[in-house]
Amino acid sequence: MDLYLALASLLGSEIVSQDPVKLEANSRDKWFASHSPEVVVAPTTTEQVSRLLRWANQRQVPVTARGSGYGYVGGCVPVKGGIVLALAGMNRIKEIDLADGVAVVEPGVITGDLQREVKNRRLFYPPDPASFKNSSIGGNIATNAGGPRCLKYGVTRHYVLGLEVVLADGTIVRLGGRTHKNKTGFDLVGLFVGSEGMLGVVTEATLRLLPLPPARASISASFSSIEEAATAVQTILLEGYLPSALEIADRFTLEAARRYLSRRIVPEGEAHLLIDLDGHEEPVRLSAETLTNLLKSTGALTLETAHGEAACEKLWDLRRGFSESLKATGLKKLNEDVAVPRGKLVELMQFAGGLQERYGFPVACFGHAGDGNIHVNVMVAEPDKKDVSEKVEQALDELFRYVIASGGAITGEHGIGLAKKRWWPQAVSPETIALHQTVKLALDPVGILNPGKFLS
Ligand SMILES: Cc1cc2nc3c(=O)[nH]c(=O)nc-3n(C[C@H](O)[C@H](O)[C@H](O)COP(=O)(O)OP(=O)(O)OC[C@H]3O[C@@H](n4cnc5c(N)ncnc54)[C@H](O)[C@@H]3O)c2cc1C
Repeated sequence: MDLYLALASLLGSEIVSQDPVKLEANSRDKWFASHSPEVVVAPTTTEQVSRLLRWANQRQVPVTARGSGYGYVGGCVPVKGGIVLALAGMNRIKEIDLADGVAVVEPGVITGDLQREVKNRRLFYPPDPASFKNSSIGGNIATNAGGPRCLKYGVTRHYVLGLEVVLADGTIVRLGGRTHKNKTGFDLVGLFVGSEGMLGVVTEATLRLLPLPPARASISASFSSIEEAATAVQTILLEGYLPSALEIADRFTLEAARRYLSRRIVPEGEAHLLIDLDGHEEPVRLSAETLTNLLKSTGALTLETAHGEAACEKLWDLRRGFSESLKATGLKKLNEDVAVPRGKLVELMQFAGGLQERYGFPVACFGHAGDGNIHVNVMVAEPDKKDVSEKVEQALDELFRYVIASGGAITGEHGIGLAKKRWWPQAVSPETIALHQTVKLALDPVGILNPGKFLS
C-alpha cells in the first residue's frame, strides 16, 4: 500500500505530504531523538482527524500527534514511522467569553498568543511553560504543562474545563463543558490531560480564564550559597506568602549567565531567587516591601524590586536566559525536570552537588523551587564518546534512584516521552503499569496512537 496515495485520496492532497523537507521537520522535537514519518497530514477540521484515525485504525498504521514540536522528551517523535498528525494549522481561537470566563480554542493555538489575546480583555490564562512563545495548547494539554506560575495557579489540568477528543477508532467525544465545576461522571478530561498523545487526539479545548491581576512585582535576591537560597524558599512560604512564581538558580547557572548575558544583569553571589507577586496595586506593594525585609533577615546578599510589567520583565530576562546561557557553554545539556517533595529541596541541591563530585560532570540546577520542581542539568563534554555516555547513564540512574527514593517524580512537567522511558518501570509500581495498560487497551486496542513510547 502506498500510504501517501491512499491518504491523499482519502483526505485530499492539500493536507497530505511526503516532501522530504517536511518529513525531516516532523521527525524531532527539542530533545535528541529523531525518526522520520512516512507521511505528514495537516488537518484543518476535526472531521478530517476522525476520518484519518478511523482509516489508520482499520489498517494498524501508527499515528503520532504533533503540536509545535517544542517538547523536551521526544514525545512527538514518530519512532514507529507511519503518520505524523501535525495540528499546528488548527489554530483558531474560536471564542473568548468574558461573562463565562472561558476560551474555546483549537489545539494548534500558541500558548503565548492565547495569553496575549485574553490579556487584552483583562482576563488571564495562567499556565506559562517557558516555551510559551512556541508551544501549542494541544501539546500543553497532552503533557499537562507547568511553568513558574504553578506554585500559585496550578498546572494546565486546572484550566481545562472541556475537551473534544478523537479516539483511535475515529469516534469524536466531547468531555466536560464550559462550567467551572462539573462532576458528571468520571474525570475523563483529566484522563486525557497528560496522556502524551497515546489515548486520543485533542481537537478542541474549553479553557478556564481568571480575572487579570492588575498589579505585579518581582524581587530578585541573591545569596552566598544554594542552601541559603533553598532555605529562604521555605521561610517565604511558612511566613504566609504565596508568590505567583518562586524560581531558584545555582552557581554554575549564574556563572554561565554572567558569561553569556553580561555581568550587569546577574547579581553577585552563588545562588539566586526570583520571586513574583501579583494582585491589586496596594497589597502587592505592601507584600513586596515586607517580603524584601524578610529576605534581608534570611541573609540575602543583594535585593532588587521591580513594579509593573516592563520593569518585572527586565528582571525576568535573567531567568529566561538561563537555558541559552547553559547551551552557550558548549557542553551538552541534559535537562532532567525532576520534582521532590518541597521539604527535600535543600537535600536535592546537595545531592546534585555530590553527583557533580562523584562523576566529574558539572551539574546546573535551576527552576521552580516553590514546587520542588528543579531542572537538574547534567552538562557533558564529548557526549558521543562511549565511556562518557556510559558514565552519563550511571549518573542519571543515580539521580533518578535518589528522586524516587525521596518520594519525588522523575518528571514534574515535561512528561516521559522517550527521554524518561528507561526509568518509568522504576518510578511506578507493576500494578500502576498494568492499570495504564488496561486504559490504553480500552481506548486504543490496536495501539496506533503514538506507539513506541512508555507503554510499548
Ligand atoms: C526552551 C523550552 C522550555 C520549556 N519549558 C517548559 C516549562 O516551563 N514547562 C513545561 O511544562 N514544559 C516546558 N517545555 C516542554 C514543552 O514546551 C512542553 O511539553 C509543551 O507542552 C510542548 O508543546 P508542543 O506543542 O510543542 O507539543 P509537541 O512537542 O508537539 O508534543 C508533545 C506531546 O503532546 C502530544 N500532542 C501534541 N498535540 C496533541 C494533541 N492535539 N492531541 C493529543 N496529543 C498531542 C504529542 O504526541 C507529544 O506526545 C519546554 C521546552 C523547551 C524547548
